[in-house]
Amino acid sequence: MNQHSRFNLPLCMAVEEDIFEHVDQTVFDYLPEIKGKKAIFVTEKFLNDTYPDTVSGICQDFGGAEVFLVTGADFDSASALAKRILIENITIVIGFGGGRVLDTAKYAAFISKAVYICLPTTLSNDSLASPFSVLGTEGTNRKTLPCKIPTAVIVDTSMILKAPVSQTYSGIGDTIGKYTAVYDWALSAKATGTRVDDFAYSIAQMCYDSVAHCDEKSVTNKGFIKTLSRALVMGGLAMEIAGSSRPCSGSEHLFAHAIEEYYPDIKISHGLAVALGAVGAANFQGRDDLNLIEICKKYGLDLNPASYGIDKDTFCDIWNRAAGTRPDRVTILNDTDLNKDWLCDIYDRMQG
Ligand SMILES: [Zn+2]
Repeated sequence: MNQHSRFNLPLCMAVEEDIFEHVDQTVFDYLPEIKGKKAIFVTEKFLNDTYPDTVSGICQDFGGAEVFLVTGADFDSASALAKRILIENITIVIGFGGGRVLDTAKYAAFISKAVYICLPTTLSNDSLASPFSVLGTEGTNRKTLPCKIPTAVIVDTSMILKAPVSQTYSGIGDTIGKYTAVYDWALSAKATGTRVDDFAYSIAQMCYDSVAHCDEKSVTNKGFIKTLSRALVMGGLAMEIAGSSRPCSGSEHLFAHAIEEYYPDIKISHGLAVALGAVGAANFQGRDDLNLIEICKKYGLDLNPASYGIDKDTFCDIWNRAAGTRPDRVTILNDTDLNKDWLCDIYDRMQG
């Protein structure tokens, strides 16, 4: 056993136009041993109604797979799905959707030890190939649960181009956030006397570079959609290799968590909240934030906090609460004096 046999990698990773028309061929090329095995197709009502032909085509290709509709991404529905997979001797779990559907399918496949095939319909964040599922537990509480990454990740660029552009913006924001995440990870390693995993670090850095320095900064360009798909999947693999979310999640994510936990009425996607957080985090780290603002502008992301109803006082309060959302995480916030003038200055520049 070598030092790297502790992690898994997907056997299949394909990004192609209209590939959802032949998912079966793609999967069986890589995994001939599951051909003819029983499958279940996990999605939600909205997608089932919006793409009936795609859903029925894939179900037919997998031996008449039944459709399981996810209603809430919580632990109980993932457990109920796992129970069904085990009782009905299902071998293949196909997840078709965005974060909620994919987290439910991924966790159910993990606890039932089924083969998980991930078919994202949006590129909103890097959880699609990560070794974690975020599921509701009690009331509004959610928990990040460790699980196994997908066996196959198949992205259809035509499907992504049909999704609302706000979802793609979110995926860009989540990727941009790696600029400050890897820095915080290295800082934390130094402070705690541990080491970053060099490969996970490099992969996360490359995810950021691929999006930040992409020649084609257009969310409707197929070439860019391929780049973003790979960046999000590779972000998941960086977490798998590191054995934690640290390569992809630093103080910019703590800012996003503080919005989720303390200001649930603020309507902002995960990735955009992360991008907003990355600007502040870059400043605290003593690095250039103009770059981040410029890159986001070119893609069409709006980093003005006021656009999301975040006024100056709220902005300061979010930053002051950020470190407390994950007190065990060492980030630049541990060494930062969050004085109001500085935060207001950052806020003003984000409005620019
Ligand atoms: Zn994220």
